Amino acid sequence: MLERDPKGNIRDRLEEEPMTNRLQWDVFISSQIPAITNDLPPGASEMKWSPISSTLISGKRDAVLVDTAITVEQNQKLAEWIAASGKNLTTIYATHGHGDHFFGVNTIRKGFPNAQFVATREVIAVMQKQASAPFVSAYWKVRFPGQIDSTLIIADELKEVVIELEGEQLVSVPLGHTDTDSTTCLHVPSIGLVVAGDSAYNDVHLHLGESNAETRKDWIAALDTIESLKPAAVVAGHKRPGAADTPNIVEETKKYIRDFDRTAANTQTALELYLQMLVLYPDRVNPAVLWNSARAVKPGS
Ligand SMILES: [Zn+2]
Repeated sequence: MLERDPKGNIRDRLEEEPMTNRLQWDVFISSQIPAITNDLPPGASEMKWSPISSTLISGKRDAVLVDTAITVEQNQKLAEWIAASGKNLTTIYATHGHGDHFFGVNTIRKGFPNAQFVATREVIAVMQKQASAPFVSAYWKVRFPGQIDSTLIIADELKEVVIELEGEQLVSVPLGHTDTDSTTCLHVPSIGLVVAGDSAYNDVHLHLGESNAETRKDWIAALDTIESLKPAAVVAGHKRPGAADTPNIVEETKKYIRDFDRTAANTQTALELYLQMLVLYPDRVNPAVLWNSARAVKPGS
């Protein structure tokens, strides 16, 4: 773009833009939808799934999507949003193997048949379990009857640590156990962005049902790893719509984990744990997830 500077000289603004500002990012949130389950918190009559974040990192022409949503309908909306960006989707990256972050690949690829779907080898192992017929029937189809894509695509192995986007690097960082095994985040050093998947939560109750006090130390270490990257923005896999993608959510996630472990040690039953955590966190999205966490840590109570 040509414009005049204060001295009246014409200059080209594009030439002055630093290379590092070439990438942009935006987050699409798939809003909460009902999930059918009998295991409801006291007083609740239904459960909803937490809002899910998908991040589009784009250059001038191409883009990379990080994580999809669950149902065909959610993913159709996500696909429309990507199409509206006008970018050419080259790659879909899954941060971790939970179905609620990769079941949409078939739908997204209908509009972008050349988009590669990639994840680390360890993430693929979790994906294979999540997409196996017995698990899909027993878990996902029960919660979302008639809404799960009949074609669930497993990622190809990301052989390099880096995904290239118009000459910039998006780096896959292994995080180990966070809310499930073998998770990762995607780090974009040139713009200080970390797309955290489910290692960080933003004002939504954490899924602690797959961890124990020991593996939650691994989770804290994973959050230390994210902090060591000194990000300017961190996108959580589950965030309250409209919440800022501030790096503060990393410390907030650590605090929630520590509060949960301390409260779990000082309570007898799932109900006590649930109610005491709600005193500390009265406003986080989706207390039903806290109920599941409490039941997992105190089964049969
Ligand atoms: Zn998730």
